[in-house]
Amino acid sequence: MDFDGNFVMTIDGRPVPGTTMIDVVNPATGQRFATAPDCTREQLDEAVAAAKRSFAAWRSTSIAERQAMVAKAADILLDHAGDMARLFTREQGRPIDAARQEIEGAAAWMKAVAAMEPPVHISEDSETQFIETRYVPLGVVCAIAPWNFPVNLAMWKVAPALVAGNTMVLKPSPYTPLCTLKIGQLLADIFPPGVFNVISGGDALGPMMTAHPGFAKISFTGSTATGKRVMQSAASDLKRLTLELGGNDAAIVLPDVDLDAIAQTIFMGSFFNSAQICVATKRLYVHEDVYDGLRDRLAAIAAAVKLGDGAEQGTMLGPIQNKRQYDRVMALLDDARSSGLTLIEGAAVPDGGGYFVPITIVDNPPEDARVVQEEAFGPILPMMKFTDIDDAVERANASEYGLAGSIWSGDTAKATKIARQLETGTVWVNQILNLRPDTPFAGRKGSGFGTENGMDGLLEYMTPQALYVAK
Ligand code: NAD
Repeated sequence: MDFDGNFVMTIDGRPVPGTTMIDVVNPATGQRFATAPDCTREQLDEAVAAAKRSFAAWRSTSIAERQAMVAKAADILLDHAGDMARLFTREQGRPIDAARQEIEGAAAWMKAVAAMEPPVHISEDSETQFIETRYVPLGVVCAIAPWNFPVNLAMWKVAPALVAGNTMVLKPSPYTPLCTLKIGQLLADIFPPGVFNVISGGDALGPMMTAHPGFAKISFTGSTATGKRVMQSAASDLKRLTLELGGNDAAIVLPDVDLDAIAQTIFMGSFFNSAQICVATKRLYVHEDVYDGLRDRLAAIAAAVKLGDGAEQGTMLGPIQNKRQYDRVMALLDDARSSGLTLIEGAAVPDGGGYFVPITIVDNPPEDARVVQEEAFGPILPMMKFTDIDDAVERANASEYGLAGSIWSGDTAKATKIARQLETGTVWVNQILNLRPDTPFAGRKGSGFGTENGMDGLLEYMTPQALYVAK
């Protein structure tokens, strides 16, 4: 397969070129390097109709067969991981090794989900009656993915939705459509036509999809602001919803930590993928006794980081993925600067037209600073001092979001007790960014609702059917 061009949609098992195209830009250069189809209303209708037609046969296929096809799809991704990683780096910006890890991680995820099976509950099996609850699929799923982990977060939806017996129309972000389009083509021979459709397009396509009456469910990952619009749009015909939205995660560092042991992990927990991670640490609360020590270590790591084009050997962190986000992050940085906050800048930003933002630590800003209150989704980390742990927990919880958070301490039992007080769907103790396919991932408050991963995640694509049989 040609990974450099010929980007087409996959509708009803067939390659479908665009009648008009959208530009795809390499964020390391700011230059367009490819185009992707801009799906029309008619093409969307075709994709939904194909998914609808294939639903009856697909849901009647045994779960073992569906699991086998999803596992085979994972192998196909692995077979093409090298080519796909190169394309990933060009469209997303992340360094090539980490790009490959995303493809391989997505494949591993699909295999783990392919081993899951929904439960069957028997409430009664007596002389008079038999009562059983099974989980059945919903219909056609609309899947909408963001640009920060474009392959992984799409596959988090594809694997459970298809194993559960649904069919799907998947839309990647307009900023990162290319790997997903190639995956559509690669898997066209694996799934029956119409089961897995991939379309791409500009800003108008998402709202067109969420308003489409043919979908039974929307699984959306993206920002909280967009999530609210998706929810409004879904209300018209009561589409089921999973909303994985933004976060402003806190990490709390207690005074009994070994700073040398944790500094690098804390750094990457904030800045990996140039801080474009929903569950990155975006507010760092540090006990006053270890504040200066941690700040100085993080500043030293930031100064030594190689920022650059992910295609170049040795690059550790790439650019911000797109111009819109770059402008947002730069505006936040300007606001911090003009508010008189103390900024510690890391390594030099490369010259050229790429969307590079300097790695920046904000030294003890007030709690009400924009950079503390808003999700930066870029490499600006506010670090705040605390004296009293209850105060730190209260500040951590005083957020519109509730995605994840972490506690760092030499005393695991004490840290675990504190971790349980965080109002977030995921909490870590002395680790971060660890997610698993068999463990539920769910947001609270403004971070959305519904669950991905684990049995809860699989059941998000199903609904219970209770069967009562009189004997
Ligand atoms: P975004 O909300 O701008 O876009 C996400 C997707 O929604 C894209 O495919 C976009 O084209 C589409 N979209 C845009 N407007 C739409 C509309 N009105 N109706 C339907 N679809 C629409 O988000 P983004 O900038 O791509 O991603 C970054 C955000 O995603 C951050 O806030 C981040 O925290 C969040 N995120 C959350 C998770 C999670 O699992 N909770 C994971 C990754 C990213």
